[in-house]
Amino acid sequence: MEIRTRFAPSPTGYMHIGNLRTALYEYLIAKSQGGKFILRIEDTDQGRLVEGATEIIYNTMKMTGLHHDEGPDIGGAYGPYVQSERMGMYMEYAKELVEKGEAYYCFCTKERLESLKESNGDGAAFAKYDRHCYHLSKEEVQAKLDAGEDFVIRQKMPDEGTTTFSDVVYGDITVENKELDDQILMKADGFPTYNFANVVDDHLMEITHVVRGSEYLSSTPKYNLLYQAFGWDAPVYVHLPAVMRDAHNKLSKRHGDKSFEDLVREGYLVEAIVNYIALLGWSPSDNTEIFTLKELEEKFDIAGLSKSPSIFDIKKLTWMNGEYMKAMEFEKFYALAESKLKEALAETQLDLRKIAALLKKRLETLNDIPHLVEFFKELPEYGTKLYTHKKMKTDDAIALSSLQAAIPVLEEMTEWNETAIHDRLIALVGELGIKNGQLLWPVRTALSGEPTSPGGAIELADILGKEESIRRLKKGVELLSN
Ligand code: GLU
Repeated sequence: MEIRTRFAPSPTGYMHIGNLRTALYEYLIAKSQGGKFILRIEDTDQGRLVEGATEIIYNTMKMTGLHHDEGPDIGGAYGPYVQSERMGMYMEYAKELVEKGEAYYCFCTKERLESLKESNGDGAAFAKYDRHCYHLSKEEVQAKLDAGEDFVIRQKMPDEGTTTFSDVVYGDITVENKELDDQILMKADGFPTYNFANVVDDHLMEITHVVRGSEYLSSTPKYNLLYQAFGWDAPVYVHLPAVMRDAHNKLSKRHGDKSFEDLVREGYLVEAIVNYIALLGWSPSDNTEIFTLKELEEKFDIAGLSKSPSIFDIKKLTWMNGEYMKAMEFEKFYALAESKLKEALAETQLDLRKIAALLKKRLETLNDIPHLVEFFKELPEYGTKLYTHKKMKTDDAIALSSLQAAIPVLEEMTEWNETAIHDRLIALVGELGIKNGQLLWPVRTALSGEPTSPGGAIELADILGKEESIRRLKKGVELLSN
């Protein structure tokens, strides 16, 4: 049997990290077994539609490389793939259940339903429907329909017994049928509820594995009963534990947690985000952490899914992002960094490629570029305390004498490149009988005016050029002499 998974986002206007993880696992379950990955847009909640939201979904799929095999934008044999374009068929399926005695029309008014809540006591938000309309005769129902009364169609739950379903992550789950509400399948506006549409769609699209957030676990017995009522096979269920902000709270866009787009905007690489998200609830048997999507396709195994919620750790993502940049080919990195470098250093004649090479080794996110390179453009105001460094064994006095010794030596140089600067400064260290750091730290500090910099004394001097380097060293001497 061919594995078919589906990503079924509602167009909310952004890609929640938890949703992207669901999409990734669906993609990986399909691809690791030579199956198909389908995109279905669930837009039946017309009140919550956001303009441009489906484009965000398509873009995310493209950017992340989670290419779907079927979907609204590329078609396929099981379309349409947008729920609102499938409206005609749900009513037919709901009526089929009515015929079978598995569902019934309900004409209860809002007021009556509200009063049920009250009679349920303590203003309960949820009241089990009392099956008032289940007892209407066929003729009574027909008369109301003929009179054009508003109606919904409800699923008739079994009165007794239990329903058990098996989830790949959570194991067997059993509920008492009498706990289940006769949920609405078709709403008064003629639209299906999500609870109904997802079952019909998953069946018609021949979905074999349904992967979604654990918030759907409690509804799954009802879905299973729907499959049974139709006489259809239920899919394999894979419910995923929530992605958490901390030990107690779920990640939530409303509470300020970042979406996928936010992370990209903040300079995280798409590949690093995807890699990090893969590990939020899944681990490979060998505990490796860095994978390309291709490697994930090979390694992914449902058995590695965990039911303990994972915490989204931005520090870990940031670390991983840095690892990705270090490992990246220089040209690819430069293509990503160039616009930010140009923006920051537009008026300078500096060699941006050399600066990029320095950054690549120690950058955490692309958005760090502007402030990390600012000093190349203009030496910042800085205090002499930067010259004191315990490990380098420097203090103001050593810094001053080192800079004073370095200036004439550098002024004499005719060739200006890393090797020449290196050789000359190291020779000077020998002549002065001091440690490397006692010369190089003060030079680095005077050249950057920063407590840390991408690149050390030699690299910075090379990039800044002879004239500017000497100007900055003299500035250091001036500061230290006051
Ligand atoms: N549209 C639902 C959501 O975005 C999909 C749930 C499911 O995958 O069944 O939460």
